[in-house]
Amino acid sequence: MTVRFIGAGPGDPELITVKGQRLLAAADTIIYAGSLVNPALLAFAKQDAVIMNSAAMTLDEVIDAIAQATAAGREVVRLHTGDPSIYGAIKEQMDALDARGISYEVVPGVSSFLAAAAALRCEYTLPEVTQTIIVTRLEGRTPVPEREKLAALASHRATMCIFLSVHMLDNVVGELIAGGYPADTPIAVVQKASWPDQKIYHGTLATIAGTVQEAGVDRTAMIVVGNCLGGGKMKTAFISVTDNGARLAADTAANLTCKLDLYAKAGREGGTEATTYESLSELVAEIYQKYNGLVFIMATGIVVRVIAPHIRDKRYDPAVVVMDEGGRHAISLLAGHLGGANELTHVVAKAAGAAPVITTATDIQQKPAPDVLAARIGLEIEPFDQLKRINAALVAGKRVVFFIDCSLPNYEHYVNLAAEQCIMLVTADDLVHTDRYDAAVVISDKELYMVKPHIFLRPATMAVGVGCRRGVSSAELFTAITDACRKIGRSVKSVGSVATTAVKDDEIGLLAMVEQMAVPFKTYSNEQLLHCIEKFGLETSAFVEEQIGVGNVCEASALLAAGTDKLLLGKTIYDKISVAIAEVKSPSLA
Ligand code: SAH
Repeated sequence: MTVRFIGAGPGDPELITVKGQRLLAAADTIIYAGSLVNPALLAFAKQDAVIMNSAAMTLDEVIDAIAQATAAGREVVRLHTGDPSIYGAIKEQMDALDARGISYEVVPGVSSFLAAAAALRCEYTLPEVTQTIIVTRLEGRTPVPEREKLAALASHRATMCIFLSVHMLDNVVGELIAGGYPADTPIAVVQKASWPDQKIYHGTLATIAGTVQEAGVDRTAMIVVGNCLGGGKMKTAFISVTDNGARLAADTAANLTCKLDLYAKAGREGGTEATTYESLSELVAEIYQKYNGLVFIMATGIVVRVIAPHIRDKRYDPAVVVMDEGGRHAISLLAGHLGGANELTHVVAKAAGAAPVITTATDIQQKPAPDVLAARIGLEIEPFDQLKRINAALVAGKRVVFFIDCSLPNYEHYVNLAAEQCIMLVTADDLVHTDRYDAAVVISDKELYMVKPHIFLRPATMAVGVGCRRGVSSAELFTAITDACRKIGRSVKSVGSVATTAVKDDEIGLLAMVEQMAVPFKTYSNEQLLHCIEKFGLETSAFVEEQIGVGNVCEASALLAAGTDKLLLGKTIYDKISVAIAEVKSPSLA
């Protein structure tokens, strides 16, 4: 009698293999891993099959049950979730069967990390992004070898599928950021992939922990991270027709970090390494669909004629930018919002020292796109990857409402601006009636719970003061600040600056963290801090005083950076870090 270890698949009973189902149907004894195997699979079993749930059994009990059944001449199936070779603890069972001379066979199954890819409709091995998948977990009761720590693996920036760890998502995010994933890297959590109650949460490393905590997901979920989920830097081509243009393209490209290719007219490469072409119209026919962005360095008229035959739809067209060969103007020509041409124009203009020319500035169908609004008044978009969805809803004429949090310091200003842009605002009461709108744009610094698709625009209403020991990591700092914001119900995206003592102005972890958060870093001398401590009668600590020379770093620096007397969160201690948050009276308006 050969025992069969069978992969049950991730949940959907149809995702067991044909072989697995056949053997299951023929089994006399079935021992299934009850915690995750879908009981619906047991419907394939024979009427009189003996069925046992191993969730409540020890290893010895399982082996005894298998041994007794095989000795009695019964066909035994050991049913494991997903694929048995992945976190399935089958080695210990196989060893025990070997010891007793019982033969066995393994039938593979669809692992949950593959069901997650299907749910996310993504390709893990996306050309030009990554060709590697790392399947791993955070350390739990089972130790993980030092060289496989998440931060070490993250340095590859490959696609990562992280099992058994969603209940420690904060730590996962901290390690991934510490390992080198930028905070805006896309990440998704797929709960119960392929089950009827499957749920997907999208975000970035900066946002996902909040989203998932709010949703209360703490088990049976796959964490997928990496640029295969989209949001990677876009691929851009520069196309020139003159020597000057070719040189401008190469110089501009040298200032950019996004992936790009250079094309120059044959014989007019201007001494650059650009790929050459003979006919512009043939080149454009070939590359129009291949790039997310096309930057033409030539007259607008030429570009209009040459792209005209290929223009399809603003959802599919690449971002088209035109720059004169003198590098004076960069014009967003096509696919301004959805294709990202406005964004690309800003990036290219900055790199070339040109003036950006944007002509879609006011509206999509009478309503401004949230990204335009955000750029105008200096707000952070959260989550950024939701932007396309909201803009698509606007374009499709869906009911997208705008809401401004009336407790914001600049409330009046935002309202006036909305009026200028002909935006109709809704009230908090309106927001509650979710049947009255399809999506919402919310200007607030608070973590609001929203049911409908939405995007937050975050004003910089907070200054964070930090005290820390030497050698803390940027991830520890970021996690502490995120948690501090969460404590007062605010989004970390509303942090406008981070401040500390001048003694720490070279602290590597702090510098890396402010770089990741992309906020100004302010440091204050002991004299300034002392003055602030006295002025507001802040409490001091003898230990801190001994170390730094003043007794309160975080509260004093937060207040100084905010320029107010209002602490939103007093000194809050984390492991090696103390955090305080002060309210910025009048966040500067872009
Ligand atoms: N052998 C299984 C993994 C067992 S470990 C496999 O190949 O899938 C259990 C972990 O797998 C869970 O903590 C979760 O991270 C993941 N998991 C199992 N089923 C899942 C599902 N349907 N959706 C998402 N994650 C799942």
